[in-house]
Amino acid sequence: MTASAIKFEVIAAAGEARAGIIRTRRGVIETPVFMPVGTAATVKGIRFEELESSDLDPAIILGNTYHLWLRPGIETIKACGGLHRFMGWQRALLTDSGGFQVWSLGALRKVSEEGTQFRSHIDGSLRFLSPEVSMEVQVGLGSEIIMVFDECAPGRATYDEAARSMELTARWAKRSRVKFDELQLSAKDSSGAPVDDLSGAQALFGIVQGAGHLELRRESMARTVEIGFDGYAIGGLSVGEEKPLMFEIIDATAPHLPAHKPRYLMGVGTPEDLVESVARGVDMFDCVLPTRNGRNGQAFTSKGKINIKNARWTDDTRPLDEACGCSVCRRHSRAYLRHLFLAGEMLSSILLTHHNLAFFLDTMRRVRQSIRSDDFQRFRREFIEGLSSNDN
Ligand SMILES: [Zn+2]
Repeated sequence: MTASAIKFEVIAAAGEARAGIIRTRRGVIETPVFMPVGTAATVKGIRFEELESSDLDPAIILGNTYHLWLRPGIETIKACGGLHRFMGWQRALLTDSGGFQVWSLGALRKVSEEGTQFRSHIDGSLRFLSPEVSMEVQVGLGSEIIMVFDECAPGRATYDEAARSMELTARWAKRSRVKFDELQLSAKDSSGAPVDDLSGAQALFGIVQGAGHLELRRESMARTVEIGFDGYAIGGLSVGEEKPLMFEIIDATAPHLPAHKPRYLMGVGTPEDLVESVARGVDMFDCVLPTRNGRNGQAFTSKGKINIKNARWTDDTRPLDEACGCSVCRRHSRAYLRHLFLAGEMLSSILLTHHNLAFFLDTMRRVRQSIRSDDFQRFRREFIEGLSSNDN
């Protein structure tokens, strides 16, 4: 048997929740894991030194195929030795397929069997993304984990719309697999090197779609698993559907995906969503909330959210979160952070982003620890109680 690109091992479980390890050619990822989003080859507002500091220390971050493909362009990144070298990040990277970004363009796109045509949001030029193009780009970027090119139907799509979209996603998953395998053989990957007993190749994840229809979700899951991938994602959630439906879909999919492969819930969510989804068997997450909301003046804390603009904090000398040990909470007060935000100082975004990422990453650290020490259900109850106390 040939060595695989990644190796996943579950080391402890509590109900459906599991703590595990993903070994990649660029280091070990402990799961459940939160992956900060680095859309345009940067986790917005955070220097890489800070990202690697003990406050944050993620083992993996995301890169965005759509954005990088349009700017600076794949040829530029390849000429600079691949995405890791280009951005100065030596740990693992996961790239999305571009499907979701193209979908979010809405009326500007045209979907056909072949792929999706759309206008670049940068210069208005006509571009075409397909499973084959997405694989070429992601392999060229040199990420450790690559996502299949999918079509995302809105959470409230009708059954017929969602069924058509799910069928198309299944056909595109097959094409992604074929093209990906071909590219791995032709060594187009820009940053691979065999490590330990891994093959040194890139890993490919499939994506379960089907909008808000459980029957379609189950069919999508069966068809995705049948093709066979290194990991499985649940896509198309947190796109406008109601929360109970989101959890219903996670319940109907996550625990039924292959147990020996990582399960990734794409684009979700709040701290509460993360913990509740771990309880349903999810291992990996990404979300722009900690970074985007940080720039907009919102802090996540163990006692719920804080809007830093609020006049309540004018002379409040307490840190954002008294239970947080991050460098922002050790040094700065709510009053100071409010002042920075109102004065339009760029440091406001930097500090709030730092704290928010620290809170998300530390939450996942505590989730892992609680699963390993067989204490997850108590952690889950107390964590959710704390968030909803809103006792800031
Ligand atoms: Zn903090």
